[in-house]
Amino acid sequence: MKVYYQLCILIGLMISVHTGPVPAPIGEDEEILAKTYLEKLYDLKEEKKTPYGRSVSEMSQKLSEMQEFFKLNVTGVLDRETLEVMTQPRCAVPDVAAYVLSPGQYKWPSNQLTYRIENYTPDMTQAEVDDSIQRALQVWAHVTPLKFTRIYSGTADIMISFGVRDHGDGYPFDGPNGFLAHAFFPSPGIGGDTHFDDDETFTFSSPQGYNLFLVAAHEFGHALGLDHSKDPGALMHPIYSYRNNFILPQDDVNGIQALYGPNPDSVDPAIHPVTPDACDPKLVLDAVTLLRGEMMFFKKNLFWRRGPLSPETEQHLITSFWPDAPNNIDAAYEDPSEDTVYLFKGQKIWAVDGYNIAQGYPKSLRSVSLPPNVKKITAALYNSDTGKTLFFVGKLYYSYDHRNKKMDKGYPKPVEEGFPGMTAKITAALQYRGFIYLFSGPRMFEFTSDGQRLMRVLNNSYFLPC
Ligand SMILES: [Zn+2]
Ligand SMILES: [Zn+2]
Repeated sequence: MKVYYQLCILIGLMISVHTGPVPAPIGEDEEILAKTYLEKLYDLKEEKKTPYGRSVSEMSQKLSEMQEFFKLNVTGVLDRETLEVMTQPRCAVPDVAAYVLSPGQYKWPSNQLTYRIENYTPDMTQAEVDDSIQRALQVWAHVTPLKFTRIYSGTADIMISFGVRDHGDGYPFDGPNGFLAHAFFPSPGIGGDTHFDDDETFTFSSPQGYNLFLVAAHEFGHALGLDHSKDPGALMHPIYSYRNNFILPQDDVNGIQALYGPNPDSVDPAIHPVTPDACDPKLVLDAVTLLRGEMMFFKKNLFWRRGPLSPETEQHLITSFWPDAPNNIDAAYEDPSEDTVYLFKGQKIWAVDGYNIAQGYPKSLRSVSLPPNVKKITAALYNSDTGKTLFFVGKLYYSYDHRNKKMDKGYPKPVEEGFPGMTAKITAALQYRGFIYLFSGPRMFEFTSDGQRLMRVLNNSYFLPC
């Protein structure tokens, strides 16, 4: 009987920061990149040397499938947004059911599984590798009846090894970056086996390089029978993201428990994160800011961002952009003159420029002259007309002068005084194209830039394509 193996490969590439509003035309190299991506991941057949070549519609259909998986605008045409997703770090197990004979059929017949670490990477100590692998398996064991036993000789269900280039299974690695690892779905023989590309730099606890625990936890999901998830917050989402204080997301818990059931031996105390939906009409945003002309909307551990000319919204984990930044932030604003975004949580402020937390941060709320009785702020915005930053604390607000690094006299004031009619508590705030937007619960109040006239009351997903 022919056995179909599925293979998962993580591709590591840099996430681009948008810098300009005008998209460059798609180049030939990018067309080739897209074709390779669709051949590897979406079962696009390799181009035959026939007089007709590959039909345009076949390529277009595969592009549409990919765009649908990533919740992009489904056009069947290669555009900037689609290309950008294609260059994000990801796992190369196919995303579409075309490769899957029958989803869910890959499952171990026993809950008692063995694993063996055959060799080590020089990037980490052996103890660090052992610990990373063990924790990555426990991610799944915590929420299922599965038990993993390590063996030191013979053949385990899950054979774990580090290799480079052609390492003997017909799926060669590709040198630094690109493919990071792959794993085979449950079956006898090579099924369950997990290989890491040792041309990568794997790390133990640092957000730099590729965190072995996170890569392994994703791969073991495949080794246990899980496919990729469309949920962008899931561990089994194809795109690799760094996460700190990892807790298995609810989507992955649902997936693995559908195969093996819950853990009968333990009451699971963890609150597994559920990915928020930008278009949920009840969604209350944590914070909103601009970043180099793009709007960023924060909720829990992720943010959505949207460029001024882009029909798409991207969703990212906060820590995949800024590994040392906090989740569940209170407020955010951009000072465009310094090209810096400030993030607030509790008593602390983080300044980020590009991908880096600026030196000397986090700082305290005192560093922007907020008085000691302010334990947290609820929203902030930078008004480019006045050069002032407004800090909202419940129904009051402060005005901070960046240039003189001083709080303006006469503050705090009631929000209603500066923004007539605004009586509800502000939860997020933004100045955008000459208007001030104050978010309160699921609503957004549009004011003139001087705050004196309320123009419209909108849903807070107004700027998102919902
Ligand atoms: Zn994968
Ligand atoms: Zn391999």
